[in-house]
Amino acid sequence: MGDRGSGRGVIPQVPWVVILGALALGVFSLLNLYLGFQAYASGRAEQASYYILIGSMGFAAMGYMFFRARAPPLRRTLIPRVEVVTTIECPSCGLKRVRSFERGDYIFRRDIPCSKCGGQAVITRIHRKRLPEEARQL
Ligand SMILES: [Zn+2]
Repeated sequence: MGDRGSGRGVIPQVPWVVILGALALGVFSLLNLYLGFQAYASGRAEQASYYILIGSMGFAAMGYMFFRARAPPLRRTLIPRVEVVTTIECPSCGLKRVRSFERGDYIFRRDIPCSKCGGQAVITRIHRKRLPEEARQL
């Protein structure tokens, strides 16, 4: 329980509950298929098709469980957390400052006077802050 971070890799891990459930389903499905083939062999074709149908559905459900468990949560994939930052530059001395984006920021907007020379600093860039994972790759 104490170490939750170690399991988080590039490939999402399947929780053991899902594995156990899938295994139980697998055994159940195999049993049904076996009974189905036995019934078929002894001439009870209708009964056999029921067993085989149940067995196949069990396998389908098993595959679905694994698929669902492995797929990363949709929300996290579609809406990544982004932080927007504003870069302010002083044209007189070239001093650059970066702060988090504020409502109403736009490029070439005048910001507070430059702390170094007192010149009129302007916003030169508004962009997404680089995520730590991305920065590591550079
Ligand atoms: Zn300046």
